[in-house]
Amino acid sequence: MITTYAYGFPRLGVNREYKQSIESYWRRKISSSELRENIDKLEATRLATYEKYVNRFPVGEMTLYDNMVDTALMLGLYHCDNLDDYYNLCIGKKALTLTKWFNTNYHYLVPEFASPIPRFRAAWNKPKEAIAKYKKGVPYLIGPFTFLKLSTGIAKERFGDYLLALAEVYAELISDLDEVHIDEPALVWELPPAEVQLIKLAYQKMRAANCKINLFTYYDSVDFMEDLYELPVAAIGLDMINGQENLKAIRKYGFPEDKTLICGIVNGSNVWRTNIESAVATLNELSRYAKSIVISNASPLYHLPITIAAETLDRRLAGRLSFAEERLYELKLIAQVYAGNRQGVAEWNKQGVHFDSDPGVKERIKHLKDSDFSRSIPYSERVVSQQQRLALPLFPTSTIGSFPQTPVVRKKRAEFRTGRLSQEDYNTFIRQQIAQLITLQEELGLDVFVHGEFERSDMVEFFAEKLNGIATTLKGWIISYGTRVYRPPIIYSDVSRPNPMTVDEIAYAQSLTPKPVKGMLTGPVTIIAWSFVRDDIPVSEIAYQIALCLQDEIRDYEANGIKIVQVDEPAFREKAPLKRRDWDQYFNWAVKAFRLASQAKPETQVQTHMCYSEFGDIIDRISQMDFDVITIEASRSRGNITRDFIGGSFDRQIGLGVWDIHSPQIPSPEDMAEIVTRALEVFPKENLWLNPDCGLKTRRWEEVIPSLKNLIILAGRLRKGASSLKNATD
Ligand code: GLN
Ligand code: ZN
Repeated sequence: MITTYAYGFPRLGVNREYKQSIESYWRRKISSSELRENIDKLEATRLATYEKYVNRFPVGEMTLYDNMVDTALMLGLYHCDNLDDYYNLCIGKKALTLTKWFNTNYHYLVPEFASPIPRFRAAWNKPKEAIAKYKKGVPYLIGPFTFLKLSTGIAKERFGDYLLALAEVYAELISDLDEVHIDEPALVWELPPAEVQLIKLAYQKMRAANCKINLFTYYDSVDFMEDLYELPVAAIGLDMINGQENLKAIRKYGFPEDKTLICGIVNGSNVWRTNIESAVATLNELSRYAKSIVISNASPLYHLPITIAAETLDRRLAGRLSFAEERLYELKLIAQVYAGNRQGVAEWNKQGVHFDSDPGVKERIKHLKDSDFSRSIPYSERVVSQQQRLALPLFPTSTIGSFPQTPVVRKKRAEFRTGRLSQEDYNTFIRQQIAQLITLQEELGLDVFVHGEFERSDMVEFFAEKLNGIATTLKGWIISYGTRVYRPPIIYSDVSRPNPMTVDEIAYAQSLTPKPVKGMLTGPVTIIAWSFVRDDIPVSEIAYQIALCLQDEIRDYEANGIKIVQVDEPAFREKAPLKRRDWDQYFNWAVKAFRLASQAKPETQVQTHMCYSEFGDIIDRISQMDFDVITIEASRSRGNITRDFIGGSFDRQIGLGVWDIHSPQIPSPEDMAEIVTRALEVFPKENLWLNPDCGLKTRRWEEVIPSLKNLIILAGRLRKGASSLKNATD
């Protein structure tokens, strides 16, 4: 019988117990020991789930917030005396920053190396504690290379020194262990040969510990298979789902006799059931190369909801799905079939059905022509008619869309969802919220208005609920970071728009004011990035299907007198493949999908929003999206972002996020002016807008109102052309 191993099982709990416990502790509703007890209970359930299905699994994956920050603590980079110190590091005023983990929507806390860089030391042996406590399982660690690659503040030329220093600390951490699970997803990046050599040296140092290392790579294939084979490790985990090249490399180079191949054969990042037959066929082939094989998930299971059993989905769809617990079952099934027992297989793969394709959608996709992907006249001409129509002042002020989702708003939505509030009463409530916000924006003196997004819980799920071909779940929660969770919808069939989705609210908002109100949509790439997508048609086609729905929505906006539309694409960058060589292919469809979605009349202004600032290497791709205005993050980098645009050919309007909405601080006009001053060195003043970084959904009114007032004061000063922005008086 082949051994089964699984890792990364979600820590959230079916009823989000993880979130509830930690947040209760933050609100001082439970004590630190109660929190630890709750988390221990959750961990016991998690480990028991593994045990129910698979032979082996890691121990010590549980964390009170994030495993990257835990690793930093283990290595002595930070010191925490108690839980409050720990949470200060995670969510306090001076918390570490959050960044997306590889090309997923999980965010980790970025360890920051202050200078002088502290000496690493084995400050906390978390894996050893875990094995002492649970007695079974393979102690878990994030590897030194991945840890260092994902941290900031290390001078490039010192990287090697630090990696080797770290390897010594790792050797110490694992020296008391017999076996260890080490995650090294960073090994799937395109690495220069010098770094590959460094990885070898680092792992050779760790060999001194005499501990059996099981090394896991995932999310893509490893480019340097021969070198990887030379590492002194006992087992190598390869992703056979997202890393198709891995199989080709094994065919070419074989597999070392002295190592175990941990074959990642069930999908950790999408929800479709594994075809058991073809998984077994792959294993049969691999067994010709590898003497010892363990089967596993291809990437960590925390990108999946916990179990399909918690859902009330259409059975035809549910029968095609596999969440984290079902993946464990699949591993068991594959092992059993591999050993010759086919019981249960036919049933597993026959429970669901494919839905008929939608001929109307197919027809539209088939007839797409090049001209459907370009606006009818170039920006230089569009901008003239837009400006005539909108008559905006210099430095127009606006916001990104959402306004505070107060407890009242959330309560009403919950009441509506559970049927305690009628559709009519809910609509009335939403309209009241919109009307109040329009009045407020008038009082504040903003130039371009929004309706506030009070009717939306989540920018993807909201649209998923309105579109055909996309299902939403009841309990399919996934951690996005810390205790923040979201439910990715499931795109299972052709996507179409049975009815307008947002036109009522936007048109109502516009009816209340002569100022332009932005029509607010989530872009096709972001809808795809934050959903599970079907795998029977190319992702580009799914994107075009969604794009056509958005295009229809924009047509309806135009018919209702809406002059500006904003198509949000916050996931545009995150979705880019890990390997640069795959970028052209991705950006090609991503840019086209945006352009197809944002087909609007020349006089309609198309805006987009992205909430980050790592643009340096994708500015050209972004320019190809052919929007009229983009709003981006600029405050956390104090305007450094503008450097990326120097010397480029970027000629569109740009709204700099001069207020960091991720912080509760109220920025003064002077704080914000600093960023604008820097921007004016790069952009002509006619092209600059002023706005917050992102939506204001998570902020409080007490922060929103004074901050927007300051933003408008700044706009006034700028318009007066005060010679020194800093000292100008009103
Ligand atoms: N329009 C959205 C909002 O304001 C954008 C959110 C986002 O970029 N993540 O909430
Ligand atoms: Zn944003």
